[in-house]
Amino acid sequence: MFGVISAVICGLASLFLYSQTQSNSPAYIQRWFTDQNSHKTLSTIQNEPCPNAPFLLPSQGLIGLLWNDPAGPYNIFRRHSGIDIFGDGDSGTVPVYAAYDGYLTRKSNWVSAVIIQHDDPLHQGRKIWTYYAHMASKDGKSYIVEDFPMGTQGVFVQQGTLLGYQGEYNGNSLRPIGMHLHFSIVKSEADGSFKNETIVGNTLDPSPYFGMPLNIAQKPSRPIGCRS
Ligand SMILES: [Zn+2]
Repeated sequence: MFGVISAVICGLASLFLYSQTQSNSPAYIQRWFTDQNSHKTLSTIQNEPCPNAPFLLPSQGLIGLLWNDPAGPYNIFRRHSGIDIFGDGDSGTVPVYAAYDGYLTRKSNWVSAVIIQHDDPLHQGRKIWTYYAHMASKDGKSYIVEDFPMGTQGVFVQQGTLLGYQGEYNGNSLRPIGMHLHFSIVKSEADGSFKNETIVGNTLDPSPYFGMPLNIAQKPSRPIGCRS
């Protein structure tokens, strides 16, 4: 029995360690949270879409975890479905904006998240969604602006509309998360509703939408900027 348990523990430890070697994100995130002076040099400050790209970066800060990233708390079998932008400032003060024109929905039990449906600017005739999460305090005080209360359905918003502010809310999970925005581009089901965003296969590589290297396969250095 003990042999089995230690084999499982060894297996998980090697999975974790191997996953970390497939990403360059942990070192940047660690620097961000241990060295305040790093914030200026690691932040992506982008107030308009990159040249020839449709989407506006929804918030400013260190683009830490990338799309398809296996870095902790994820691993090579359960990869990150979006990008995490770690803002510079206190919880509830770093603004989050709509990446593109679309129709905003906030389900009746969504404390910290909104989702917006768009006509896909890169694939004519296809509907996609952009998802924005963690916009509440640790204990669940929402930072989403009053215009979009729980239960909002299909309200038109323009690119750049203020949605709320970065927070640290992680549901009922005891695992603390540093303040950030989790953002992902989500595929539609056949009936037009959005797919389960937590599965990376249900999401799209955000790189072409932003004109930035946001896929971990390229292990881009930070801060990430527009593709030249
Ligand atoms: Zn995330």
